[in-house]
Parts: sequence; C-alpha cells; structure tokens
Amino acid sequence: MTLLSVDDLAMQYGSSQALFGVSFDVAPGEVVALMGRNGMGKTTTIHAICRMVPAMSGAITFDGQDLLRLPSFRAARLGLGLVPEGRRCFAPLTVEENLIASARPGHWDLARIARLFPRLEERRDQKAASLSGGEQQMLAIARALMTNPRLLLLDEATEGLAPVVRQEIWAAIATLKRDSGLAIVVVDKALKELNKIADRAVIIARGQSVWTGRPADLTADLADRYLGV
Ligand code: ATP
Repeated sequence: MTLLSVDDLAMQYGSSQALFGVSFDVAPGEVVALMGRNGMGKTTTIHAICRMVPAMSGAITFDGQDLLRLPSFRAARLGLGLVPEGRRCFAPLTVEENLIASARPGHWDLARIARLFPRLEERRDQKAASLSGGEQQMLAIARALMTNPRLLLLDEATEGLAPVVRQEIWAAIATLKRDSGLAIVVVDKALKELNKIADRAVIIARGQSVWTGRPADLTADLADRYLGV
C-alpha cells in the first residue's frame, strides 16, 4: 500500500525550472530520505507536496486523493505535517501556546509531546523566542505532531545544531518511527544517521530523482557522484 505517491513532478519558479521529474513513493510507517547536494530540489519537492509552491506537471497522490486537484487548505487537512527548514515557530507565544495553536484532534496531545521532548515540558511557559536553537527545533517538530499528521516531512531538522542536540533530535525521530508508526520524509545532510533510520533513500540531482533504493545499497560511487562525499 502507498500513502504518498509523487509521479514525474515538475515545477518552476517564474521562468526558472527547479524540478524536472521527481518520482517516489512512501508507504505507511515508512521513513524515506531525500538526498542530494544543495540546490538540487529537495526543499522544492517537499514544498510542492505541501502545496506551498505550485506544481507544473506530474501527480501527487496522498491516501488515494489527487493532491494537486485539492485547494491547498484541504490538502493540509489530509494529514501532512511539515517541519520547515529554519524551524518557524510563533516567537512571541509560549511553548504551550505554540502547541495549542497547532492542535487538531487525534492521539497527539501535550502529555504525549512532553514524553517525547521532556525539555519542552520544562520550558512550557517560556516564549519560543527565548528557546535555544535545538529547543526551537523540538518545538517545530512538536507543532507538526500536534496537527496529528499521517506523514511528517522534516526539512533539515538537525541543521546548525550542536552534535549533542542533533543526537536528541535523531533519537526523537527514531522513537517516532518505532512507537507511532508515522510515515516520515526526511531531508538531511547526515548520511550516517539517515542510513540508520531510513527504510529507503531517494537521490535528487538537478531536479530529478535519479536513484531509489535501500540506504545500505548506496554505493561509494553513487555517494561520490550525487552527494559529494
Ligand atoms: P538545499 O539543501 O540548499 O535547501 P535543495 O535540494 O533543497 O537544496 P531547493 O531549495 O529545492 O534545493 O532548490 C532547487 C532549485 O530551485 C535551486 O536552483 C534554487 O536556487 C531554486 N530555488 C529555490 N527556491 C527558489 C525561489 N523561491 N525562487 C527561485 N528559485 C528558487
């Protein structure tokens, strides 16, 4: 069974084409890593799925529904939980207010968030603006979870964080995979961590998906050619 299916997606910003044919599937409970060098189209792919940028052609199906035919507010309600690059939270609101503002009915609530991120529980009455970068990232993930998504999309969730904080974020993602069975699309540069957590990897190069497989099957040659490692 397929939860998300992206088929030959193309997209352009004004006259500049960014995607030329991206295709991949995500099954329920599966963790799929989008990999590739900077500027190759990973963020654009995620934004197109979340209907933040318009697709030019191709198809995106989520839970059997043609996403590109739905108005974007309806698409969001189907259960796409985006954790955007740059962890945007409502800075003047407290941690708890941020979480409540995102809440939609389902099994994620404040108590469950507190178990996943005890640090957020400790800071629940603090304004988001006063949190550390790592805590803001936890809050961004927690906000997406409070929408009770069926697919979580994480865009560079560990970027710019101290190694110890990164490990906390990876541990939380691993817990989500193990305990909640949530499907996750993850964009990150940490290959070692992606190899551990992802069931499948999709390499995006120059706006096209050029390889899909198990992370364990990613050869040194592919990594050298497409990931620059
Ligand atoms: P990164 O890891 O740097 O975020 P990425 O793989 O996510 O890279 P995208 O951000 O999707 O890449 O960018 C794909 C292409 O689209 C790049 O050439 C980029 O310059 C271009 N692009 C991205 N956003 C815009 C925009 N708002 N307007 C015009 N071009 C854009």
